[in-house]
Amino acid sequence: MAHQWRGIIAEYADRLPAHVQERIVTLGEGGTPLVEAPALSARTGAQVFLKVEGMNPTASFKDRGMTAAISSAAGRGAKAVVCASTGNTSASAAAYATKAGMVCAVLVPDGKIAMGKLSQAIAHGAKLLQVDGNFDDCLVAARKLAEAYPVELVNSVNPDRIEGQKTGAFEIVDALGDAPDIHALPVGNAGNITAYWKGFREYAGLGDPDAPGAHLPAVSTRTPIMWGFQAAGAAPIVAGHPITHPETIATAIRIGNPASWAQAEAARDESGGVIEAVTDEQILAAHRILSAEAGVFVEPGSAAGVAGILSRAERGLVPAGARIVVTVTGHGLKDPQWALKTLDGADVTPIRVSADVVSIADALQLG
Ligand SMILES: *Cc1c(COP(=O)(O)O)cnc(C)c1O
Repeated sequence: MAHQWRGIIAEYADRLPAHVQERIVTLGEGGTPLVEAPALSARTGAQVFLKVEGMNPTASFKDRGMTAAISSAAGRGAKAVVCASTGNTSASAAAYATKAGMVCAVLVPDGKIAMGKLSQAIAHGAKLLQVDGNFDDCLVAARKLAEAYPVELVNSVNPDRIEGQKTGAFEIVDALGDAPDIHALPVGNAGNITAYWKGFREYAGLGDPDAPGAHLPAVSTRTPIMWGFQAAGAAPIVAGHPITHPETIATAIRIGNPASWAQAEAARDESGGVIEAVTDEQILAAHRILSAEAGVFVEPGSAAGVAGILSRAERGLVPAGARIVVTVTGHGLKDPQWALKTLDGADVTPIRVSADVVSIADALQLG
């Protein structure tokens, strides 16, 4: 067989822990496109690239961490895994657990799980429990379950998840030849910002001296400034305290008490970056610009990073000519309803025409 991408564990074996490599469970995750976005460059005065994580096997970045977490569990002979999820973790856990021949239990919060994600978890045969509570309640319950019963927790508090997810940073540096000036992304439970910062540091030779691959030569000359963006109704790190009832249309980041809070603040502070809030209106506007101008369809939560750089550009806070990578975290088909609404909330419906060329040409204003 000609060479094809082998998944992140095989591709980055020398920078990942040995225990995730004893029994590799992969669906070919990673190797996602880094796409230049002239429409965003023009709007910000920077050079903007999108790391399109919706191109992973279950259509979100969660697959990078899940291949590591499920491989690690498989190596220990685990038979069952559990996770709390706003949707994408459950879709990913269900797929990888199925590949590994394990049982997967999923705790999702009451209401507001995007249809695409729910259908994935069900299709892959997860035992799906909708919990009377929010995501944070689900995570507490999943942790306790994993402590008391023979099931392994595969949330991003599982260090193997962070190890897998750090490969997103490696791929960006490998594609650009060095770290970007700025890396922007949405922040929910804050595992991903933690993982990217770890990956950027390790590739610059600044990681923990005991990290796998610490003996290898540095790949990049520097690390980027990290910009994280939370939804305004679910912005605990910005507010400085947990949010009891987080609310946002961006369900992937509707989290009031991030598990990796301290690590997210460390990524911000060590990199000289920021963590800011963007409103649902800004998120939906960015969602629209991404699909209608950049050709990249994402779910609303994924648009928060783009909303963030646009908001900073409006305030004159984007350095001219800076090379910015925005990680867009999940695919638009996960939660497609937002594409079918106008900005003021009306339904978008197709124009009806009869099946003759003249009326079609008329409708297209070609005549
Ligand atoms: C999980 C997720 C996020 C948030 O990532 P965290 O690691 O929880 O901060 C953002 N976007 C999408 C699409 C996700 O699935």
